[in-house]
Amino acid sequence: MRFVSSILLTALFSSAHLNVQAASQDPYFKGFANYAKENGALSPSVEKYLKELTETERKVGYIGPVLDLPKPQKVMEGVYTVVGSLIWHTPENYGLNNNLSWVEFADGVFVFNAGPNPAVAYSFHQIIKQHTDKPVKWVAVENSQGHAYLGASYWVDIGVKNFYSQSRANQDFNNGFEQIKASWSRRVGENLTHSARNVSDKFTEFDDKLVIDVGGGETIELLTFGPGHTPGSTLAYIPSRNLLFTGDVAYNHRSLAFFPYTHTGHWIDTFKAMKAAMPIDVFVIPGHGAPTDMAKITEDTLGYLEYLHRAVKEKIAQGGKEPDMGSIDQSAYKHRPVFEQTHQQNAVHIYKELTGGDLGESFE
Ligand SMILES: [Zn+2]
Repeated sequence: MRFVSSILLTALFSSAHLNVQAASQDPYFKGFANYAKENGALSPSVEKYLKELTETERKVGYIGPVLDLPKPQKVMEGVYTVVGSLIWHTPENYGLNNNLSWVEFADGVFVFNAGPNPAVAYSFHQIIKQHTDKPVKWVAVENSQGHAYLGASYWVDIGVKNFYSQSRANQDFNNGFEQIKASWSRRVGENLTHSARNVSDKFTEFDDKLVIDVGGGETIELLTFGPGHTPGSTLAYIPSRNLLFTGDVAYNHRSLAFFPYTHTGHWIDTFKAMKAAMPIDVFVIPGHGAPTDMAKITEDTLGYLEYLHRAVKEKIAQGGKEPDMGSIDQSAYKHRPVFEQTHQQNAVHIYKELTGGDLGESFE
């Protein structure tokens, strides 16, 4: 409990605005803060204490309790994925609502997605250590989003040297860092997120393709097939395992979510390009949802995008305007998680894309 409170203190003192709500929820902090108020002479030692904590965290990536993440699913020998929550990011899921995966190679471990914050990255690392003694040597992130990327500073702090991202995605993360961090801190928790730093300068960027030699005669091909869910994205294909990490180019089961920066028309082309480049029997670890195959992600991702594009175009042809998009029948997809929260906005998004409407702007 004391340890948790220390983390909280660091978070509180290092942020510009004191998180009063979090503080009032923590009895240890409350007592400490009152004591400090009554004893002005204490503040130098509080500051010193906080400085030491921050330095320690910088060395080890995260200090605090191990979070109770979902059990990893074994995809094949030496390949595991922790399937995150199928809803949005919340304090209850620690922000883990996509997939964190690792692959064991002769020379070390490859991690796909850095995690939504250092606390989840650390906890995920503890799971990896229960399966292999090999060090984590390579980390790649699927896109510029907080859940792919905000945990990256943890891996930098523990000494990982090789980081990879498609160039556009890395630049978007760099440009959006403050906003992305603030948004994820607010939604998931400052105490988990506060130590995340912008480490985009540690990443090796690639435009189209980059091949990593991981020893034992195996390679990882980092690929991109164009914009869609995000303007930039990184996919990883491992030929020796016939295994593909699609990032958010592909969803399994969960409803698709469109952001202001999402271009669904490009997404359709990108998905088709990916599919054409991959063996039809490839094992798939998607951006959201459990490990699966090409047929399932085609149905759940491309199938939905094409269906909704067709339906929106029909509505427009009938003279339909933005408010009419709500009457499009999407009932075939209503069993999918977060359908209620996404489907109407998804139709409006496509309407705006097709009619030149303003999609807004944001980093997430
Ligand atoms: Zn995502």
